[in-house]
Amino acid sequence: MDEATLLGLERSVPRYTSYPTAAQFGTDIDGKAHRAWLTALPDGDISLYLHVPYCRALCWYCACHTAVTRGPEQIEAYGERLARELRMVARDVGVGRRLAALQLGGGTPTELGGDGLERLVERIAAHFTIDRDTEISIETDPRYLTPARAATLGAIGVNRASLGVQDFSPAVQRAINRWQPVETTARAMDALRHVGIARINIDLVYGLPLQTLDMLTATLERTVALAPSRIAVFGYAHVPWMARRQRAIDAATLPDMATRQAMARLTARDLAAAGYVAVGIDHYALPDDPLAIAAREGRLRRTFQGYTDVAAVPQVGLGASAISQLPGGFTQNAAGMKQYAEAINQGAYATARGCALNDDDRLAADVIERLMCDFIVDLDAVARRHGAPATLFDDDLERLRPYVEQGVVEIDGDVVRIPPAGRIATRLICAAFDHYLPTSGARHSSAV
Ligand code: SF4
Repeated sequence: MDEATLLGLERSVPRYTSYPTAAQFGTDIDGKAHRAWLTALPDGDISLYLHVPYCRALCWYCACHTAVTRGPEQIEAYGERLARELRMVARDVGVGRRLAALQLGGGTPTELGGDGLERLVERIAAHFTIDRDTEISIETDPRYLTPARAATLGAIGVNRASLGVQDFSPAVQRAINRWQPVETTARAMDALRHVGIARINIDLVYGLPLQTLDMLTATLERTVALAPSRIAVFGYAHVPWMARRQRAIDAATLPDMATRQAMARLTARDLAAAGYVAVGIDHYALPDDPLAIAAREGRLRRTFQGYTDVAAVPQVGLGASAISQLPGGFTQNAAGMKQYAEAINQGAYATARGCALNDDDRLAADVIERLMCDFIVDLDAVARRHGAPATLFDDDLERLRPYVEQGVVEIDGDVVRIPPAGRIATRLICAAFDHYLPTSGARHSSAV
């Protein structure tokens, strides 16, 4: 039996960007709950995430809530709805709150256009406090990032940009419907650096159709040559039952589990050799990048947007399908544009589902987040933080026993530690603390 099978890496487990995960969201949570949780926020900074669900063309591997841009009127109308939702949020959390982070994600937020982006950020600044320490980040598509659009990003204060690449091999790019020569990515990075945006992330994916270990090696080499400050390397999640466009991908062309495992290990090895520090399960950063520093100092957080160094929870999500992470619980806006538009046009929140947190959720969430971020957790310390006895974890520790025997996790008293050789199984180890997974029936992606 190979190592992947032995560890159960083909098992379907969540990515734990939250706990409980989105699979536990129910329709009993509505706009009223969202508003009540917003108005109950304690004083302090918040983060905003604005989702723009439009792209110029759709990539077949992508599971995001996105649609092809149909024209300027559609985009303008969407920008106006975001502005309306923004006013509601400011009313409920208090005008003038400082933003620790402002994230523009998607989709392709630059589809809002230069004027649209400027108008949006002006409106945000009119309702919230943005200062020089606010991280303003944006996801960009290098294929459409012109020097003029990069200049707009510089002008509105963007200080971190993420570039989607996935893989540089032409065969893989054709198989995922995303043609993007390396020169295109290099030009986009030059344009960003030219306007002073030096913090650049590149997003890659392993496990894509037709991708081989050699192709991944070449992609990593080219990426390192572009010298981004962060590199995220995600495992492709083939979930065609959730993302219809993935049906265009022939599952027979996907690398098998042993190859995926080899790809994950190769990535960690090559990026470490190139001077990048591994952060969490799928990020790599230059040693002086704030994410690497936060990981070293035990300040790393994990949110719906992935790893962050910004102590930026609560996080309020705006736009269709956006998720908010609030002390009271999680809420998610309607993903359908029609439902989102109808609610916002009526001056109501477009919350479609969510999940209220109980004490058990908060306790397990704390354990899972520390394991996902630090690979070590002191269960007794976590229990004390939550006023609970550490014996509450006895059943969870029992579920970890097989992994202890396989050497991918170590238990020393109340301390659970995932050694470097076991990090590939981190999501499986976190799953031992997930009290919903055994009965949820939800389908997730494989653990590696
Ligand atoms: S990968 Fe990016 S550009 Fe492609 S469909 Fe998804 S969000 Fe749009």
